[in-house]
This record gives sequence, structure tokens and C-alpha cells, in this order.
Amino acid sequence: MGGAEGPSPSAIFLFFLFTLFFAFPAQALEITGQPQQGGLVLGRAAAGARVFLDGEAVPVDGEGRFVLGFGRDAGARAEVRVERADGSAEVVALEVRPRDWQVQRIDGLPEEKVTPPKALLERIAADNRAVAEARRSRRALAEFLGGFRLPVAGARVSGVFGSQRILNGEPRAPHSGLDLAAPEGTPVVAAAAGVVSLAHPDMFYTGMTVMVDHGLGVQTVYAHLSRIDVTVGQRLAAGETLGLVGATGRATGPHLHWGASWLDRRLDPESLPGLMQP
Ligand SMILES: [Zn+2]
Repeated sequence: MGGAEGPSPSAIFLFFLFTLFFAFPAQALEITGQPQQGGLVLGRAAAGARVFLDGEAVPVDGEGRFVLGFGRDAGARAEVRVERADGSAEVVALEVRPRDWQVQRIDGLPEEKVTPPKALLERIAADNRAVAEARRSRRALAEFLGGFRLPVAGARVSGVFGSQRILNGEPRAPHSGLDLAAPEGTPVVAAAAGVVSLAHPDMFYTGMTVMVDHGLGVQTVYAHLSRIDVTVGQRLAAGETLGLVGATGRATGPHLHWGASWLDRRLDPESLPGLMQP
């Protein structure tokens, strides 16, 4: 190194480089949206980066885009860790806004639909395995970034996400989607572009059920259909008809149960970005 005259030209150059790097981190983590229970935010990191939410690996597309989803009961703080291809890492703490959830009582359901007999437990377990398998479809595409639309035109919201359900007086799991009441036979369309990950003719709770993988871990589910018009692996454009409204499975009348998920977390469909009428 140089003498007492001052920093050498190479040291000045290095200092300049570091200043630039810290002042203008070209690969800074971007988060768009307010994290809240039941919601999702969009993120972007440097291409090739690996992203973790509270230690869990997050799907990232080729341009560094990703989604972070927060379940109904998500804690007040979440931690995002980004590991870039150059070995550098960044950790960001997110505040997750809490929400209040409704209590919904439904009476008059057939008792076997509230407390299924043991003979049906294996069938319900098989349904759950099929859904979990469909959720493993993790396409690194982000075709939904143009926004989501309501899957039924002119429907009335008859049940919201997150309600604590009390069925025939017995507390059950919170409602995992948005209920859209519409006449039997009303077309149901894909809320965004994607690929069909499940098309099941007869699930115990959800009847005729379709799931669509929109990429980056985001999927939507369409339940109680009276007809299914798609098959697994089929590519759907946003707004393309996938079936008809019905009352199959555990339903007291014709409606679409519309759900959304990110990885294994259930999301509030009403919090999906860009939600608009079909
Ligand atoms: Zn529902």
C-alpha cells in the first residue's frame, strides 16, 4: 500500500465501487402490496436469487419474481430472506396486518355432512391427498400478474373467507374461500390464466371440484360444480369457462365455493390483486 500521502488510487477506486454498490443496489428486493392475514404480496429479487419466507423456500420465476402469501392466522411478523447468485444475502422483516373474522352459523345440514361417519373418513382422506398432490404443481410462471377476475358474473357473495363456521351448533374449520351464489348452470370461468391441476368428479365436501395452477405457488379452486368442462393438464386463458355452478358435495344450495391458495396456505380470494368482474 502507499505511503503517508493519502489513499492510493486503487483504494479510492474500491471505495467508489462500494459506495455505488450500497447506494444503488441494482438487485434490491422489491415488495409490492401490504402484507395482511389471508393476503398475498408480489415480490421481485435479482434473477437467479433464492427466496425464503420464514425459512420456507418460495417459488421464483426466471426474472426473480415471486409471491408471498399469508394464511388466516399468520403472525404479526414475517421474515423474507433473499440469497443472490453472487452469494450475498438480504433479510427483510415484514409487518403482517391482522384482520377480524366473522362467525357464521349454518343449521339444518344433514348430520353426516357435519360429522362424517367413520366409513367416509378414508374417502375424505383420499380427497385431501388429491388436493395436496395438486398443490404440489408449482409452475414457475406468473401468468396471473395481469390480475384476477371473479369467476362468476353477477353473483351474490353468500359467505366470506375466514369465518368461523358453526355447523348445526358445532364449531368447524374456518371457511376457506368465498361463496358466490348464482343459479345452477351459471358458467364458471378461470380467475386468471393457468393450467388445470385437479378435476375431480365427486369429492365428499366439495363435490365436483376443479383446481387451477396460476404459477409461483398460487392456485384457485372451484367447488360444488354441476359440470366440469376441463381435464388435468389443460391450459386455460383468463376468463375461459371451466364448468357450471351447482350444489354438489356439502352445499345447501347452488353456489360456487371459490378458494385461493399459495403453497399450502389458504388465501382470501377477495385479496387477490386486480380482482375485477369477469
Ligand atoms: Zn364455501
